[in-house]
Amino acid sequence: MKINSDWYTKGMEHIWLPYTQMKTAKKPQPVIATEGVRLRLADGTELVDGISSWWAAVHGYNHPHIVEAMKDQVEVMPHSMFGGLVNEPALKLATRLAEMLPGDLNRSFFAESGSVSVEISMKMAMQYFLNKGEKRTRFVHFRDTYHGDTLAAMAVGDTEQGMHANLADANSGNLLTDLPRTEAEAVAFKAFLKENAHDVAAVITEPMVQGAGGMIFHGPETLRWIREACDEAGVLFIVDEIFTGFYRTGSRFAIDQAGIVPDMITLSKALSGGVSPLSVCVATDKIFDAFYDDDPEKALMHGPTYMGHALGCAAANASLDLFEAEDYAAKVEVISDQMARELAPCRALPMVKDVRTMGAIGVVQLDDTVDLDALKPMFVDAGVWIRPFGTIVYLTPPLIIDEEDLRLLTTAIVKVLSSL
Ligand SMILES: *Cc1c(COP(=O)(O)O)cnc(C)c1O
Repeated sequence: MKINSDWYTKGMEHIWLPYTQMKTAKKPQPVIATEGVRLRLADGTELVDGISSWWAAVHGYNHPHIVEAMKDQVEVMPHSMFGGLVNEPALKLATRLAEMLPGDLNRSFFAESGSVSVEISMKMAMQYFLNKGEKRTRFVHFRDTYHGDTLAAMAVGDTEQGMHANLADANSGNLLTDLPRTEAEAVAFKAFLKENAHDVAAVITEPMVQGAGGMIFHGPETLRWIREACDEAGVLFIVDEIFTGFYRTGSRFAIDQAGIVPDMITLSKALSGGVSPLSVCVATDKIFDAFYDDDPEKALMHGPTYMGHALGCAAANASLDLFEAEDYAAKVEVISDQMARELAPCRALPMVKDVRTMGAIGVVQLDDTVDLDALKPMFVDAGVWIRPFGTIVYLTPPLIIDEEDLRLLTTAIVKVLSSL
């Protein structure tokens, strides 16, 4: 690996890397180019990407339709402020999202990162009640879940076991509980929510899959029970589809499988096709109407500098074109079947506790005897980019991956785990 270039050695003295113990971490790989499902490293090594750059690059890299749309936009207007001004890509994207999302999720509030869109959804929920004359500041959230790294988002993640357990606001007043997975748990959850409803603004969850918390699946009935519980208790329901949105679980949105409409939904990651930082919190008419008033105090006081980013929204519109042009649900089904088939042999390995797939998510759950950090270079040697975490080795490949490249990923997992 050629990691002695000047920009690398100098830069490594000044960069601070994500989720990284800088003292003990292995040196990161310098990536210099991307194409399709491949990352090219500085020494010319090409790796098939099993992660899609944190689940975002759904159409693969450098998709010509997205690149063209961005080139056209960047020459005309990369960005202009969203205060007092609007731009065509952002308004078009808002219109398209309203058409795609179920029910009356009609109002898009744009931001630049997933965590920020989560914060916005929480702020909307609190002010929704404030505008109606009620002060509610607590949130109900679930074990094993993850909603981002900013302060309020950390406080609705898994504050006991999650990566932010030590840092999440212990005084947030939020209520941590288990996702209801059975009829009996649903009854208990409904009672719990009713009892605490008076100062709870919203329940927040990831739908169908808890991603960063360990790729843990649940059924659509869980979402229906939470929706019912929220309706009965008069509490809002926020669904965070930052990971699951745009076909990752098989359906366009994970909530489509449950047939529910949350009061607010957050989207990011695949929203721009993985090329531009862009997120959105989409609210229903009911939420929007609580802010729509002659009273300036009832306005939502929020507005990120890069809100409605024209270049990012142009990329997102191009990404939506691609979703409309081809049957991505069918692509995901093919990926899902192949991963299920080809990861199945892992079940026979002694350290493997579970193998599961949902949509374009394939998971091999290990026991805690395996040193996951040791696996990372083994995957690079096998020609693939796979990043295990917690106790899982998982695949979230680009949704355009073909059979042969997907086989390289699954084969690498079987081979590396078999060699332990
Ligand atoms: C990644 C993620 C976030 C945070 O998004 P960032 O863009 O990293 O801030 C929030 N919620 C879920 C479910 C995510 O997967």
